[in-house]
Amino acid sequence: MNPEEQDLISERAAEIRERIARAAARAGRAAEEVTLVAVSKLKPAQDVRRAFGAGVRDFGENRIQEAQRKRSELAAALPGARWHLVGHLQSNKARRAAELFDHIHSVDSAALGRRLGRAGRELGRPVRGLLQVDLAGEETKFGVPEGSAEAVLDELKACEGLAIEGLMVMPPYDPEPERVRPFFRRLRELRDRALEGGFLEGRELSMGMSHDFEVAIQEGATMVRIGTAIFGKRVYPR
Ligand SMILES: *Cc1c(COP(=O)(O)O)cnc(C)c1O
Repeated sequence: MNPEEQDLISERAAEIRERIARAAARAGRAAEEVTLVAVSKLKPAQDVRRAFGAGVRDFGENRIQEAQRKRSELAAALPGARWHLVGHLQSNKARRAAELFDHIHSVDSAALGRRLGRAGRELGRPVRGLLQVDLAGEETKFGVPEGSAEAVLDELKACEGLAIEGLMVMPPYDPEPERVRPFFRRLRELRDRALEGGFLEGRELSMGMSHDFEVAIQEGATMVRIGTAIFGKRVYPR
């Protein structure tokens, strides 16, 4: 193992944890309320191992095949690690995703939810999911429009084998985190209404990435999805 890379990932992970703790403290929250999900997409299994060595236990991936490959490379080497699917999931891969992941952040339709529920019943354990909400009405983004979120949640509540434990948002990219704050706030308000209505089986709010997670934590994030700030820049295959 290249000790310099290990040091770099350890340092960055420690720094992120510190920033999470400070942001939580500023918001009058406990740092333990916020789970750091290290998004390792497009990074080698070795980097996941390094982050694990630095105490990270939650890992995010956005593609089934890549996650599967990495998981088999790492085999049983990461006891207690939890895997989060943060990218769009096609319905026909629901069963595979249910087997591979502990949390699915990207439940973005009732149809997908039903497929995941069926997978959960077959596996004999409920699939834990978050409803992805599209707050900006961006055609290129996945997610249930805000206006239909409660109807979808209502339908999925009746779905055995699936537990929707909260909401997830991927706001439009803006380099200025303060301009993203209204989206985080709206997701929290939507979560609170859904909780009041009895539509949710948890309080999770998956929001905030490398450049805006502190604002997300101020607005109530319980899971922050951080890639670049821990693993460095991603190189996208052409
Ligand atoms: C890639 C990705 C992230 C991490 O993004 P960074 O800006 O690298 O922190 C978070 N959430 C989702 C859904 C992603 O696809």
